[in-house]
Amino acid sequence: MIKVGQNEIQSVLLQLDQAIYNHTQWYNSITRTLICRLPHDLRDEAKDAHRQCRLGQWYYGAAPDILRAHPGFIAIGAEHKNMHRLAAQLLQTAASGATISSLDYDSFVNVLERLRLQIYTLKHELEEELYNLDPLTGANNRIGMLTQLREQQEMVKRRVQSCCIVMMDIDHFKAVNDTYGHVVGDMVLAASARNVMEHLRPYDKLFRYGGEEFLICMQNTDAVAGYEVVERIRLGLAANRIDYGGKKPLQITMSFGVTMLDADVSVEQSIEHADKAMYAAKIAGRNCTRIWDASM
Ligand code: GH3
Ligand code: MG
Ligand code: MG
Repeated sequence: MIKVGQNEIQSVLLQLDQAIYNHTQWYNSITRTLICRLPHDLRDEAKDAHRQCRLGQWYYGAAPDILRAHPGFIAIGAEHKNMHRLAAQLLQTAASGATISSLDYDSFVNVLERLRLQIYTLKHELEEELYNLDPLTGANNRIGMLTQLREQQEMVKRRVQSCCIVMMDIDHFKAVNDTYGHVVGDMVLAASARNVMEHLRPYDKLFRYGGEEFLICMQNTDAVAGYEVVERIRLGLAANRIDYGGKKPLQITMSFGVTMLDADVSVEQSIEHADKAMYAAKIAGRNCTRIWDASM
């Protein structure tokens, strides 16, 4: 999963549309040059033609950093470079007066189709991400949560890996709203979620479960490691100073309930276990973590 904001994703989606448009234009002009036997643009022969075209300028220059590690983005780069290499070959063959083989021409056509497919695939993944993001906090919303937890449970059932889930809730959040108003409450909520996400590991997922309640899914994690991550998050939150524009920054704490995703009960019941553990943490005085046990 790429951790990005909604605006960033929306802007990348537009950039990808532009990339498709530019490359279709470019492809059409190459085809026209070949069919009408026009002199070609020497820039299309250059070794770095793939860097000079409009898609290349975006890809190697302006594209946001968050995309660069994405496998879909890397695949686009390879396909695009390939496309320019094939175009250069065709243009040179045509300029020399030789006939272009149908095989070479087909490769060129196919590579455009593959490039389009790569770009659409990346767009699709980003759109999916946009659909699954909570706009206020940037955490995942609940839309795909149960599906993802059920997938994790399948792995637990087959003993492929264990999975730790955590329920967490802001302490005395009502008081923040009552004292500072809902707008500041929203800011505190968003800042807290950001802080939590900074302390997560790459494959941990944060879902906004309800108003000021969140659920973390930690795949391939046992209870001991899960507890350690949660304690890091808890201490990070308590140390965080939230500047809301007032005299003094605000501080909040959260209470946490940890449990293992159980292979033998429904996912909903495991969530219930985490919730009970979280409730035990509230009773124990808040700003602490409890691990579920059957006595709760
Ligand atoms: P506890 O420590 O027991 O959790 O106390 P609490 O005050 O946090 O608990 P309670 O459930 O009574 O209150 C939660 C509050 O969170 C009530 C609700 O108005 C507020 N809240 C829920 N969602 C949002 C939101 O999106 N924005 C803001 N500003 N407040 C929210
Ligand atoms: Mg609360
Ligand atoms: Mg609550």
